Amino acid sequence: MADHTFDAIVIGSGISGGWAAKELCELGLKTLVLERGRNVEHNKDYPTANMNPWDFKYRGRMSEAFYKENPLITKSAGYGEDCAHFFVKDKDHPYIQEKPFDWIRGYQVGGRSHTWGRATQRWSEFEFTAPERFGYGIGWPIGYHDVAPWYSHVEKFIGICGHKDNLPAMPDGEFLPPFEMNCVLKDLKEKLKVNYTDRHLVHARWAHLTEPAQIHLDQGRGKCEARNLCMRGCPFGGYFSSVSSTLPWAAKTGNLTIRPFSVVHSIVYDEQLGKASGVRVIDTNTKEITDYFARIIFLNASALNSNLVLLNSKSKRFPNGLGNDNGLLGKYVAFHNYRGSLSATIDGYLDQYYFGRNPTDLILVNYRNLQQQDTDYFGGFTTFLNAYRAQHPQDSAEGQVGAAYKEALSEPGGWHIYMYLQGETVPKASNHVRLSETEKDQWGIPLLVTSVEYDDNDERMV
Ligand SMILES: Cc1cc2nc3c(=O)[nH]c(=O)nc-3n(C[C@H](O)[C@H](O)[C@H](O)COP(=O)(O)OP(=O)(O)OC[C@H]3O[C@@H](n4cnc5c(N)ncnc54)[C@H](O)[C@@H]3O)c2cc1C
Repeated sequence: MADHTFDAIVIGSGISGGWAAKELCELGLKTLVLERGRNVEHNKDYPTANMNPWDFKYRGRMSEAFYKENPLITKSAGYGEDCAHFFVKDKDHPYIQEKPFDWIRGYQVGGRSHTWGRATQRWSEFEFTAPERFGYGIGWPIGYHDVAPWYSHVEKFIGICGHKDNLPAMPDGEFLPPFEMNCVLKDLKEKLKVNYTDRHLVHARWAHLTEPAQIHLDQGRGKCEARNLCMRGCPFGGYFSSVSSTLPWAAKTGNLTIRPFSVVHSIVYDEQLGKASGVRVIDTNTKEITDYFARIIFLNASALNSNLVLLNSKSKRFPNGLGNDNGLLGKYVAFHNYRGSLSATIDGYLDQYYFGRNPTDLILVNYRNLQQQDTDYFGGFTTFLNAYRAQHPQDSAEGQVGAAYKEALSEPGGWHIYMYLQGETVPKASNHVRLSETEKDQWGIPLLVTSVEYDDNDERMV
């Protein structure tokens, strides 16, 4: 038992687990991080990071057979041949969709911190208070001002680029300089100012090191080189991921043990102590079961998998899952309404260009349902947007082959713009996940049933 006892156990090594490990290890606690997937080390395990498009067998796509076998995971934004190794495969990790719901997962050390989009704007006071003020939810026990110092704590360490805009609907943080706004976006910003008083186009906030500070260099990270190949893993550590930042930082303390290939089955409840005392783990390769013990157990297996672990942690005291006396576990799933998008071509500006492949977008800050309820739907939304020049002049390149086509490619094309909605959904008890009573995964753990769907409110927002 002594070998299996730590001061703290962290379940999951993604964005939140990496953070928990960093904080606990820095405080001197011997910390065990349990991760169901394989190990991933910064740089060493980025096999595609420096590959060119022509180096990929399918030029960045997957084979048709792969799409047929993996209709779900291949829907993820940015999914492709260059980063497929950071996502699960559908048949390895099934779940039961009572209603259609895309559950996008990456099971490895670092979790989804490898492939996340890196947008990091803060919540504002409005998000904390609107559900209660407008009667579509309950009040939060904490407000923006409780969280703000912690946002700062995180932002300084991971490095966030952005611009201080002094807008209550999108509070400022601790920013490194933003990427430059290109000419089309600058004009759009000015036109919005002339036509609306409440619509602000600003730099979104992104976990990219535009100008690394000492704390980032100390992590062994460097400047973002604007390659926009982030989802492959960045050799420069130019964006934040657990494996480029928090986990190596935790390891440097000498207090960290990471155990990959360790799927947590449940949290062990000690009936006599009346406390959670350990974690039951199944080795994903050998299927051997081992218990680990600690006084602190930090569950960071992502939102839905954390619910799964708690629901599966059954004891005499907690027959419906650990801490689930009120039956709320798995209910009120909130997610994002991503279904609105627009794209267009923009005339003119043909004498202007921009530097590099800027990996960031702008944001049209939420302007709905802030001070009062001003629409026929609840909740607000932000709009991400960007403008860019096409790779070649479409008119002249279309239909061409050979030398003429190559010639055309040497010139940039016209300007394009895209926008997409990121909308708030209303948490409802009926949007829930639960354990399957009949079906289990390859390790004997019940499958998750997802019963989550969009509703009329989401339709009205779109
Ligand atoms: C394509 C994409 C783009 C995104 N873009 C953004 C963005 O721009 N901004 C933003 O804020 N968020 C974004 N997200 C969401 C963001 O990635 C997640 O919110 C974040 O990673 C959650 O952190 P986490 O630690 O809770 O979970 P994860 O990062 O998913 O980590 C969970 C870890 O737990 C492990 N695990 C799960 N179950 C078990 C178990 N039973 N036992 C042991 N280990 C387990 C997993 O393998 C994983 O490593 C994006 C996500 C995706 C997929």
